[in-house]
Amino acid sequence: MAELTLRQVKKSYGNIHILHGIDLDITSGEFIVFVGPSGCGKSTLLRSIAGLEEITSGDLNIDGERVNDVPPSKRGIAMVFQSYALYPHMTVYDNMAFGMKIAGEKKEEIDRRVKQAAEILQLTKYLDRLPKAMSGGQRQRVAIGRAIVRNPKVFLFDEPLSNLDAALRVATRIEIAKLKESMPNTTMIYVTHDQVEAMTLADRIVVLKDGHIEQVGTPMELYKRP
Ligand code: ADP
Ligand code: ADP
Repeated sequence: MAELTLRQVKKSYGNIHILHGIDLDITSGEFIVFVGPSGCGKSTLLRSIAGLEEITSGDLNIDGERVNDVPPSKRGIAMVFQSYALYPHMTVYDNMAFGMKIAGEKKEEIDRRVKQAAEILQLTKYLDRLPKAMSGGQRQRVAIGRAIVRNPKVFLFDEPLSNLDAALRVATRIEIAKLKESMPNTTMIYVTHDQVEAMTLADRIVVLKDGHIEQVGTPMELYKRP
């Protein structure tokens, strides 16, 4: 469970202002989708929430705690990127387990969480495979699994389907919809420029334009015909 509040979040690179004061409240367990044209600041906003970018001013709170100066690893956040960058020499199981091994988690706990994530993502029968023996969509599911096992309070997705071909994109979108159902308490924020993804996944859609919020609403509210 995690609620996020963004207050006047600004981000600049030198004189170039990317985010112009974002105000947003996200409730626990909500699935939020950021949409908007390329270059409007979706990815910058997501990376700022993750702590991969330092914001220039404003406040970022997770469960009431100001996290501006909290490092990414301590924010309770996991992120899935466009390219999945699995370790090619490790099996699916070991790819998912790696982060927890590094963190010194107990073997039984690692095993329990990897198997649970594999179950959710229908990867159980692929645990012994190497990434090269899997399709792009399956690999992206492994990348999602690697994020799940960290037990994040907040799950961030940066255009996770954009490198997949059309058929895999649909199949993987359905997996993400199931993931949302199976982790109802986990707050999820998802960046895309695909309207179908936004409509089918979002509880609420945030439309960004030129570094500010243009509209916020449910898919019904935003896409209903007059
Ligand atoms: P989106 O995800 O909506 O496509 P981004 O957040 O990636 O947009 O980028 C928003 C704007 O910020 C773009 O105009 C981009 O060129 C600019 N930008 C991103 N990163 C940097 C950087 N490190 N230095 C300068 N400008 C950047
Ligand atoms: P390590 O590479 O960490 O030494 P092991 O191969 O010794 O791991 O396995 C340790 C535990 O991890 C096993 O008890 C098993 O439950 C689990 N495990 C490892 N690989 C798999 C797999 N492919 N599928 C299911 N469980 C696995």
